[in-house]
Amino acid sequence: MENKIDKNALRKQVRLAIAAMTAEEKAREEDAIWQQVESSPLFVQANTLLLYWSLNNEVATHALIEKWCKQKTILLPVVNGETLDLKRYEGIQTMTEGAYGILEPTGANWTNYEAIDLNIVPGVVFDKDGHRMGHGKGYYDRLLCHINTPKMGVCYKAQLVEDLPVEPWDQPMDKVIYSKD
Ligand code: ADP
Ligand code: MG
Repeated sequence: MENKIDKNALRKQVRLAIAAMTAEEKAREEDAIWQQVESSPLFVQANTLLLYWSLNNEVATHALIEKWCKQKTILLPVVNGETLDLKRYEGIQTMTEGAYGILEPTGANWTNYEAIDLNIVPGVVFDKDGHRMGHGKGYYDRLLCHINTPKMGVCYKAQLVEDLPVEPWDQPMDKVIYSKD
């Protein structure tokens, strides 16, 4: 229980720090993040990518998704009860608002997890060892425990802490990407 309180306090503190960032600060960090991602061999060689359709307090993905969706298969999560289904991004005009106000693709579910070459994962708090904390509902933990291909967390510097409390079900990232400037 104590651990739960700690985790919620940390989430709250990080959300406030993100809310305090200016649009310019966010854009500068996002440029640095996507530059690193786009130049990584994992991304360059990937045919199929898991991404996410960002909300305001998350590292922005919309331009990146638009940029690459003709050359690579981009999958996005769709909330289905307690689980995340994956569907292919086929243009903004095919997206509908789902749970939590997030835009989601429509169409068939993508179930071939082995074919996802790289998973790019948002979060609320990360540490540099790849530990990740989400919003507290465990959606990504329940998805990623079925996916064995590389996982890359992306975050603002304000989301990094020295050492994150982890629990047995937490799914670690292979790498966490953030602006080094
Ligand atoms: P988050 O990762 O979103 O910050 P937590 O790690 O605190 O959230 O997990 C939230 C809840 O999700 C926990 O109560 C946990 O039991 C549940 N959960 C996480 N992974 C799984 C899983 N693989 N199967 C079933 N429940 C899970
Ligand atoms: Mg977790």
